[in-house]
Parts: sequence; structure tokens; C-alpha cells
Amino acid sequence: MVRIARERVGALFVLAEAEGRPGGDLAQGHRYVRLARRIGTRYTVRIAPAYRERYCRSCSSLWVEGRTVRTRLRRGCRVRSCLVCGRIRRTPLQTGPAPGSIPRGLEVPSTAVVPAEEATEELAESEEPEEE
Ligand SMILES: [Zn+2]
Repeated sequence: MVRIARERVGALFVLAEAEGRPGGDLAQGHRYVRLARRIGTRYTVRIAPAYRERYCRSCSSLWVEGRTVRTRLRRGCRVRSCLVCGRIRRTPLQTGPAPGSIPRGLEVPSTAVVPAEEATEELAESEEPEEE
């Protein structure tokens, strides 16, 4: 049961993210987040850290930058304000991957984003030393 619940929570967050893109239905996105959180509570499944940064912990609304959340960097903290209920969430800034970044395998396929590995490969090829 826990395995099924975990799959459903993941699937619901993928659906929610899809609704968060331009043209998506934000109300439906909020609903997916609420359902995922309820399943997580019922079967004691933790929400993946990558997804924990994508919604408001107070009102469960899906966070879409500029539409339902405002992010500001202030005094070494990332301050995110929910534009639906006004809750403020502060995350200390640190080196390494951002707390909200999605680990490999969990990301939603997107053609607009060039994977970091490919981008660095292209850079490395263009910087080959010339023969003398
Ligand atoms: Zn909120």
C-alpha cells in the first residue's frame, strides 16, 4: 500500500506541475497538491524534498513563480511569500543544489531546457587547445 501511495503522490505532483505551466488550470493544480498531501498523511508517505518546495504548507496551493508565490533574496535567506494566503517561508541560502531543484529521474520532461551536462560538453569542445 505504501508503495502505491508513493507512486500516486509522485504522479499527482507531476500533474500539479503540468497545471502550473502557462495555460494550465491553477485551481486543478491546487487540488492535486491537496490530494497528494492527504494521501501522504493517510499512508505516512513523506513528500519528496523536491516537491516540498512547490506548494504552500499553509493553504496547499501550488506555487507558481509570479502567480502564486513571490521569491526575494534577503539577508542570506530565500523568502517566499504565498500570494494566496500570505504565509512566508524562509530558507537559508547555501552552496550546492537549490533546495527546490528536482533530482534526476523525477523531473518533468521539458524540451525548452538544455540538460546541464550537454551544455558543459559543448563548452568543453569549443575550448580545445589549438595545435602549434
Ligand atoms: Zn498559502
